Amino acid sequence: MKNKFDVIVIGGGQSGLAMGYYLRRSGLSYIILDNQHESGGAWLHAWKSLRLFSPAQWSSLPGMIMTGGSDYYPTRDVTIEYLKFYETKYSLPVKRPVDVFNVYKHEDGFTLETSEGSFFSKTVVSATGSFSNPYIPDISGINIFKGQVLHSNQYQTPETFTGKRVAIVGEGNSGAQILAEVSRVTGTLWITQKEPRFLPDHIDGRFLFDAATQMYEAQKNGKAYKPPSLGDIVMVESVKEARSRRVYKSLRPFDSFTEDSLVWSDGHEEKIDTIIFCTGFKPSLKHLASLGIINDDGKADTDGTKSKQVDGLWLVGYGNWTGFASATLIGVGRSARATVEQISEYIGSEK
Ligand code: FAD
Repeated sequence: MKNKFDVIVIGGGQSGLAMGYYLRRSGLSYIILDNQHESGGAWLHAWKSLRLFSPAQWSSLPGMIMTGGSDYYPTRDVTIEYLKFYETKYSLPVKRPVDVFNVYKHEDGFTLETSEGSFFSKTVVSATGSFSNPYIPDISGINIFKGQVLHSNQYQTPETFTGKRVAIVGEGNSGAQILAEVSRVTGTLWITQKEPRFLPDHIDGRFLFDAATQMYEAQKNGKAYKPPSLGDIVMVESVKEARSRRVYKSLRPFDSFTEDSLVWSDGHEEKIDTIIFCTGFKPSLKHLASLGIINDDGKADTDGTKSKQVDGLWLVGYGNWTGFASATLIGVGRSARATVEQISEYIGSEK
């Protein structure tokens, strides 16, 4: 039958490619379906100046070292080039652009409804990341606000905001880094849930990735170890520079929007032209809604990467709930390898 495979991987970002790396050695037939026009996954949409927190030495997918060593923090474009080259080097069968709309389970496997017709497989791996599911809090009056409402996943460069008053919401790294850039060209406001926490200057990506490795080893050996949180702001160069301009003063959350302003519960108002929500993402799992497995958190119940509810389905790369550090380039390899082992066993036992 046309378009029939042992395994279909949905998503051709770093997680889908790591799956491809191990699948090509498994002897199983497989394809990776990705809805972008080129390789790079979420990195294609990241803002222009974004650099990885992880130095090149800690930013490699299985089998191919990202060059640059322990002092180089790869740029967005270098990361995209790396993923493109990885895909070519291992001749990974990625079909683009194919948008998977729905996944249905039947007795012998799965049917996938896509923009390129139906695909069939014995097993499915969802590796769709979270970039296409931005989270914006539901704030009263947001629909009557006449200014521009953006999420960090739409932000590219600061120049477009010159002359506008821009509010930036969120105390994470995205908020701090976007504020650093935008405040160089125009007036800004920073709105955070709580007083933002900055990591000490010496705690850079190398330290964080070392700490994460130590945590993994400690967990494996049943010991306690608490590394500094990646949720705190890392003092990358742009953030240090903005700190020297005293940009990082923040207001607590406002209550509502009017047509042109933000309004706080004490009546305080701030007129703005644009608001950029740097408020994170939820997993992009819309295509799995047809299986009825999405819980209230927007996730699915898994044991490692394996769905607890649907036999033959795995979810890879979404963060710690699908494997330790699995949303990073270096961490997803471990999850992908274990997943391919489970799939091989599953398909073997079905024969
Ligand atoms: P994605 O890269 O999002 O790839 C998923 C692919 O699936 C995309 O191409 C998407 O378009 C496609 N897709 C989605 N839905 C469908 C569908 N229904 N049908 C077909 N295709 C679909 N990671 C690091 O390792 N080091 C870092 O230093 C680092 N720094 C970061 C800094 C910031 C500010 C941010 C926001 C992220 C950072 N990350 C870093 C994390 C990294 O960007 C993401 O976790 C990573 O891109 C996730 O990879 P993925 O392959 O799981 O998902």
